[in-house]
Amino acid sequence: MESYDVIIVGAGVMGASAACELSRHGAKVALIDQAALPNPSGASIDHSKVFRLAYPDTIYVQMAAGALGLWRDIEEETDSRLMTRTGALLLGTLRPSFETMCYDAIRQSSFEAEMISSDEAARRYPQFNPDAFSYAVLDPLGAILHAESAVRALIDLARRRGARIIEGERVSRIESGGNGIARGVTTATGRLFPSGSVIVASGPWTRAVIPGLSSILTTTRQEVFYFEPAKVSASKAGFDADSFPIFIALDTGFYGFPIHHGGSIKIANHRKGVAVEPYSVEAGIDEASVAMCRDFFRYYIPALADARLTEARVCMYNNTADDDFLIDWHPDFENVLLVTGFSGHGFKFGPLIGRIASELLLTRESSYPIDRFRLGR
Ligand SMILES: Cc1cc2nc3c(=O)[nH]c(=O)nc-3n(C[C@H](O)[C@H](O)[C@H](O)COP(=O)(O)OP(=O)(O)OC[C@H]3O[C@@H](n4cnc5c(N)ncnc54)[C@H](O)[C@@H]3O)c2cc1C
Repeated sequence: MESYDVIIVGAGVMGASAACELSRHGAKVALIDQAALPNPSGASIDHSKVFRLAYPDTIYVQMAAGALGLWRDIEEETDSRLMTRTGALLLGTLRPSFETMCYDAIRQSSFEAEMISSDEAARRYPQFNPDAFSYAVLDPLGAILHAESAVRALIDLARRRGARIIEGERVSRIESGGNGIARGVTTATGRLFPSGSVIVASGPWTRAVIPGLSSILTTTRQEVFYFEPAKVSASKAGFDADSFPIFIALDTGFYGFPIHHGGSIKIANHRKGVAVEPYSVEAGIDEASVAMCRDFFRYYIPALADARLTEARVCMYNNTADDDFLIDWHPDFENVLLVTGFSGHGFKFGPLIGRIASELLLTRESSYPIDRFRLGR
């Protein structure tokens, strides 16, 4: 029976990033996933995710900046384009607010951000109705992360660095070796995978792997929509990535992207959907949700009001009570690291979380400020 230094449960962006980092340091790694990879139901898998520095406090701004450097390294090493820079435009109404706090935190972290009037925003981006908001904050480093391509690139990189990728094996249990030490994991097919340490990066399914986290994590159903804008004449502003930014209108919950997949833009609502059990999520799309997107467009981006719906996806947020991540040791096993609770905003940090996980496993310490992500915070 082959034994590993580290078994990683889950090959979404977090598990795959941790596998890349640990195998870079020479660890013998097995990355195990319950699905064929990449798992289309995983939180990480979609055409796109938002990258932004815009967070209302400096810890996240600095982590996002650190992750940006690592994403660029991965692009270079895998010879792939994983990001498209568009800028991210935060549409605000009140002050102080999420938007003004983001502006302050970006500037305090010595990066650029612009605060502009709604008229100026509509002058630069005539697609927006300036009556719908009062001002905007532009985060110029905002970018589309090409999520599925990024996860594929990370898995390939981990494999190239020597990690073993095991698909279609659902981890059902962490095996105790006694004295607060785990000796590996067992899968639903009854196979034991022995290891020196375990990382649990099982995303929305984490409560099934570690039932003790059920009082801490909740899983919600989220919907994502792609709409194809009508063709515009050359004199009118279109929705391509070079002329339309990522937008976030947090007052409404809606955020969206310029055209980036099959001629369509993407829109989703960041508000938490209904609580669900991870293995029984309803796949159908509610017409009322589509109507809400159109209502948003009608007021904020009128030219999209009649855009054609081309694709809809359902996936899950894996939430903590305060939306801060959960990165800490398992309360019962000193060699099992929990990397979870990314609360609908973790993707952009993937490679940085992989680095933190690797540091913790190799040295039990991290060079990043992770107290905020502890279990007992
Ligand atoms: C609709 C939506 C939009 C989002 N938008 C953004 C965004 O714009 N920007 C951003 O930064 N973040 C965004 N997020 C959040 C981000 O996608 C997640 O935080 C991140 O992808 C979580 O990655 P993960 O690796 O923890 O989980 P996942 O990607 O879900 O990966 C977990 C993996 O574990 C596997 N697994 C689970 N249980 C087991 C088991 N028992 N045995 C073996 N394998 C198992 C699963 O098959 C899966 O492949 C969004 C999330 C959603 C759902």
